[in-house]
Amino acid sequence: MGAHLDDIELAASGTAARLVNAGAQVRFLVMSTSEYTSYNGSHFCDADVAVAEGREAAATLGVKEIDILRFPAKDVENHSAVVESINEVVDDFRATMVFTHWPFNTHRSHANTGLATIAASRYDNSVVMYEPIVPSGRSYVGFRPQLYISIEQKLQALRQHKSEYEKYGEHLDRRRRGPIALPRL
Ligand SMILES: [Zn+2]
Repeated sequence: MGAHLDDIELAASGTAARLVNAGAQVRFLVMSTSEYTSYNGSHFCDADVAVAEGREAAATLGVKEIDILRFPAKDVENHSAVVESINEVVDDFRATMVFTHWPFNTHRSHANTGLATIAASRYDNSVVMYEPIVPSGRSYVGFRPQLYISIEQKLQALRQHKSEYEKYGEHLDRRRRGPIALPRL
């Protein structure tokens, strides 16, 4: 599950590619067509572009099934319509393992997608959470990753998101940013 086209690739596509390569059936569910404009109009991503890039990225990973819903990119909510949309896919796919956003991510659509996935997957055995280091930034609750899988296919998938590279530059495929400087008091 991802709120936007690029979230899964940024945070869990090494895992997705490894599962596909091992013969597992992997399906992506994305909550929005991911069009985006900053408050000052500085960054615009067209829905058609984001969808095309997302489909290319999934194909690069060997993921054949990708569902893209139409909740608003900046305002995916943790409400019943979102929970039931996820529920429908989880039930249809008979998922044994579900990957989703960590609910303390600073982007409300990421956090709410995480919470809605937990609600929708309440009868499933495994819900695993992911958190990209870039571009999420800091949070008031620290994420403690327990598994890293980074393989070349992940970088190839990320490079399909050309419009995101325009926004974030090479930060997008760095595993870590440098240490964050604390202000002097
Ligand atoms: Zn996102």
